[in-house]
Amino acid sequence: MGRVMEIVEETPYRFRIDPRDDMRVPGIAFVSRALLPDSGADKWLEQVANVATLPGIVDASYAMPDAHWGYGFPIGGVAATAVEEGGVVSPGGVGFDISCGVRLYAADLTRDELAPLKAALMDGLGEATPRGMGTGAVWKLAGRDELEDVLMGGSRYAVQEGHGTQRDLDRCEDFGAVADADARQISDRAMERGLHQLGSLGSGNHFLEVQAVESVHDEAAASAFGLRVGQICVMIHCGSRGLGHQICTDHVKTMESAMPSYGISVPDRQLACVPVRSPEGASYLGAMAAAANYARANRQLLGEATRRVFSRVTGRSLELVYDISHNLAKLETHGGRELCVHRKGATRALPPGHGDLPADLAPHGQPVLIPGSMGTASYVLRGVVGGAAFASTCHGAGRLLSRHQAIKTVDGTALQARLESAGIAIRGASPRGLAEETPEAYKDVDEVVAVAEGAGLATRVARLVPVGVVKG
Ligand code: 5GP
Ligand code: MN
Ligand code: MN
Repeated sequence: MGRVMEIVEETPYRFRIDPRDDMRVPGIAFVSRALLPDSGADKWLEQVANVATLPGIVDASYAMPDAHWGYGFPIGGVAATAVEEGGVVSPGGVGFDISCGVRLYAADLTRDELAPLKAALMDGLGEATPRGMGTGAVWKLAGRDELEDVLMGGSRYAVQEGHGTQRDLDRCEDFGAVADADARQISDRAMERGLHQLGSLGSGNHFLEVQAVESVHDEAAASAFGLRVGQICVMIHCGSRGLGHQICTDHVKTMESAMPSYGISVPDRQLACVPVRSPEGASYLGAMAAAANYARANRQLLGEATRRVFSRVTGRSLELVYDISHNLAKLETHGGRELCVHRKGATRALPPGHGDLPADLAPHGQPVLIPGSMGTASYVLRGVVGGAAFASTCHGAGRLLSRHQAIKTVDGTALQARLESAGIAIRGASPRGLAEETPEAYKDVDEVVAVAEGAGLATRVARLVPVGVVKG
């Protein structure tokens, strides 16, 4: 079904889809002309309009500069619903990889100092990082009871068990765990998948990357975040593995059958949703929070494995800059109302002075971590006062080509040679897996980030370039 849409250019960084038919609010895409898709590749714009039909949605259905097609909601989509006015929660607005996110470490080491040790470091990280679809994990859980401890405690439980420090938790979103996790809302199948994958990267787009700070755009913020030019960093991108995926699958199914009893109909089955204030809504949010804690513990454990290798090979330490998810729904207060803010492939970006930031970051705003691709730059941004879209911004460069299209454009072995000759070491990933992730499959991260800044979503702090990557 094609939707009739007229797109109005409000500013060079903000395009509007006016409400018509079943849309309750406008769609707002924070893009430039260069990032606006040509017709035919505009399925995600239609998804922005579809999301605008959800019961209780407030202000607008937003798309971030890296937006592209996703399950129901676009990836790079932000939508908030008014909880006390029948607002809904939709698993499609969170995504299958619940609380997938990024963490960044800053090393007490320069690029030049790393050079003679780089191959050994990459070998060590490649060996220490369980990856791919299968099992194999850093932490063998004692059983279902201990899995429940992880689901309740997230990174806090990992640290309590000796995997990290209090300083790490200070630099984690929600200080390492979200409240209201409810493991009873998780199926046996999902629990089973979760038992054997804690401390594993997953496949494809997930990675562990050694990077170097190439330039700093905001000295004061960079210094508070612990970043300086020439410094080595490690970025880890992973999520809740099979557990989160199964939870999304299970709850979409439940919601599909419950929706009619709430009188809800949606233009796309993948937008299955129920009121936040309903038994099914509470059940999903409890399970989602548990998966979010699993994802955070997962990144904490991979970070600890990284630290051990890093200190063995280089003799230096790693300090956490920040850990933030980009697939989550959160109950937040905006303008005096309680909203359920869905961020899917979108990053929360708290402004300077926000009470949820640790004291040393508060004057500068929340660090926002933006991976680009294994062959291009990545960025650290920060939140700004009055940030649009409920204080949200992009989460990456965003896909331009599907995996299927990407492998047709490049041979994986040739790509590996090209990256290696550009000084980027590659570990893991099959030639095919690598080809799916070719830098050309992603949008221009410099343009995406410039638009995020131009649109008033976040500002640039530092630009990082890849030195070596372990691909999932
Ligand atoms: P997603 O969470 O949507 O799977 O991916 C987030 C973003 O990570 C993508 O939009 C892409 O820009 C970025 N990305 C994917 N693979 C890599 C990689 O190997 N290295 C870096 N630095 N970024 C990547
Ligand atoms: Mn993911
Ligand atoms: Mn992700």
